[in-house]
Amino acid sequence: MAEHESLEFGKADFVLLDNVSLEEFMANLKLRFEKGRIYTYIGEVVVSVNPYRAMNIYGRDTIEQYKGRELYERPPHLFAIADAAYKAMKRRNKDTCIVISGESGAGKTEASKYIMQYIAAITNPSQRAEVERVKNMLLKSNCVLEAFGNAKTNRNDNSSRFGKYMDINFDFKGDPIGGHINNYLLEKSRVIFQQEGERSFHSFYQLVKGAPDAQLRSLHIQRDPTAYTYIKVGGQIKSSINDSADFKAVTDAMKVIGFTTEEIQTVYKILATILHLGNLKFGSDGDVTLIENSKLVSVLGDLLSTKDENVEKALLYRTVATGRDVIDKQHTHQEASYGRDALAKAIYERLFCWIVGRINDIIEVKNYDARVHGKNTVIGVLDIYGFEIFQNNSFEQFCINYCNEKLQQLFIQLVLKQEQEEYEREGIPWKHIDYFNNQIIVDLVEQQHKGIFAVLDEACMNVGKVTDEMFLQALNGKLAKHAHYTSRKVLKITHSEICHVYSVVGFIDKNKDTLFQDFKRLLYNSSNPVLKAMWPEGKLRITEVTKRPLTAATLFKNSMISLVENLASKEPYYVRCIKPNDVKSPLLFEHERCKHQVEYLGLLENVRVRRAGFANRQLYPRFLQRYKMISEFTWPNHDLPSDKEAVKRLLQGCGFEHDVAYGKTKVFIRTPRTIFSLEEQRAEM
Ligand code: ATP
Ligand code: MG
Repeated sequence: MAEHESLEFGKADFVLLDNVSLEEFMANLKLRFEKGRIYTYIGEVVVSVNPYRAMNIYGRDTIEQYKGRELYERPPHLFAIADAAYKAMKRRNKDTCIVISGESGAGKTEASKYIMQYIAAITNPSQRAEVERVKNMLLKSNCVLEAFGNAKTNRNDNSSRFGKYMDINFDFKGDPIGGHINNYLLEKSRVIFQQEGERSFHSFYQLVKGAPDAQLRSLHIQRDPTAYTYIKVGGQIKSSINDSADFKAVTDAMKVIGFTTEEIQTVYKILATILHLGNLKFGSDGDVTLIENSKLVSVLGDLLSTKDENVEKALLYRTVATGRDVIDKQHTHQEASYGRDALAKAIYERLFCWIVGRINDIIEVKNYDARVHGKNTVIGVLDIYGFEIFQNNSFEQFCINYCNEKLQQLFIQLVLKQEQEEYEREGIPWKHIDYFNNQIIVDLVEQQHKGIFAVLDEACMNVGKVTDEMFLQALNGKLAKHAHYTSRKVLKITHSEICHVYSVVGFIDKNKDTLFQDFKRLLYNSSNPVLKAMWPEGKLRITEVTKRPLTAATLFKNSMISLVENLASKEPYYVRCIKPNDVKSPLLFEHERCKHQVEYLGLLENVRVRRAGFANRQLYPRFLQRYKMISEFTWPNHDLPSDKEAVKRLLQGCGFEHDVAYGKTKVFIRTPRTIFSLEEQRAEM
């Protein structure tokens, strides 16, 4: 709890509100936002409101103010949470994680970067070269991942279109020695299509606008993004971002991280391949499907380091095994277009995963012997795509929002669990507080045999043509009675008062996520070793491919389940981001908009839980250090048998014993007023 700030800035901790009501919560949030205080605590949770302007609060001097301090000693800040996670890890040898949540544009990615910068800034005081190198690579990896995984959407000019969980490993001294990134479901449909006003991934525009002339020539690319169908669908070529400068920064970052020249060249060849694929047109001559602009075929052959005829064949034919025979079946016009788009999406996704994998190869901890150096501990930072509801919501939004429900569920469990455990550990009785448990929504989506994903997978398993419409009917059949599944026309989920509407169009295709085997073989047979290595499954001959690959939904569900397990195994710290308005204004606090977020993030319940228990808790020695001057029994030193006894004496002397409980190692203070009063007395000394 931070209460040292002047009250003109509102309450620095929502736990200090006089009445815990939505009105008071909102009034405090607004007041603080307007006064430029974008961070507020709920106990140890940081609530952050996107300021939409540069804030002078992340510099070296601020970092120094937070280094090694306790949470409540300084105004609320991300740095305080980062420091708390770091201290817990260092002092108690605990793996910790920082979970950043909030909707698209709320400021999660920015927060994750400030947290990483803070950790980088406070570690390695002895300037060991190897540690500096690791820190530099960890920071640089953000730049590369954002180029390939972020895009301008109608919500956010730099929206993360993938989920990212990054572990930073520390040695026994508390210095970073490596890391590991897990990435989650990239929104690859963006490679071929963007909604009005949006862009594809930054990487494409960076290449077209920023690559040197000679490089573009070698890739057969013109310096004009509007020349490429795939990246102009959204009609937004320009953005607030400087693509050309970013191209250089990203290329440099790849070099710093340790990508070879050949690897970097291949990365750009793949981007160029996708741009050309988008311009490929199919026509027909009678029953025969043709490529209209056949010149592109040789461009693709060149970029993919394979023979032109192989490219052409893979685009127009499909090898099928019928019994013992293997035949080439020509695609219809429609199948050829489908195949082309699937190829573009698949190679981009594979490229992205390969980039993450390469970064991991390079940054992962090497030569660390725990027997010599002690346990290597971890701080994980989770920055995942936020809740989003657009005009049109499809499979991607469904997955993204399911992921957010999962994280909300974890928050509910852990915040409660933590409190309960702490009271138990300290021997203090605890009364349960109720709130909306979204487990029912999570189940609706992921439950085996019954959930939406299961129904979807079942539909996709059917041989023969299953349409999205049939999938919807199956859902209606199974879930009509579910309290949170309401509509029969579209897939609709109600979450308290909030209703999410998804169009089922494309669910079946996106879930099946078919890529013709012919393309895999084409890429595997490339004479470019980097490209070849990205497509190991292309090694299989048609007759050898038997296993049906897992569906997109199942893969995503499994990855979410293991993410949540991983987070739950660590000591969590939370940053809850709020987006103040939809127009990116630094001045506007849209009341309804913010209230909505406060509600679905369960922030008010968070305050209640925190308050129903004890608003403040402090280790006995720490408490004494701060307040010992206000009591004659403890100032300048006490002669009582323990710090616990001294704290008891001090609080009795002030008349507060009815408001406190004494745990084994900590004193628990129920109402914030007591802390206020202690602080006042301290100030008067
Ligand atoms: P998404 O879920 O779409 O990835 P996000 O929560 O990661 O969204 P960010 O990309 O972090 O959102 O933030 C969106 C924009 O808001 C940033 O590009 C930046 O302009 C602004 N912003 C966010 N946080 C801050 C901050 N602390 N200071 C200044 N500007 C900020
Ligand atoms: Mg983001």
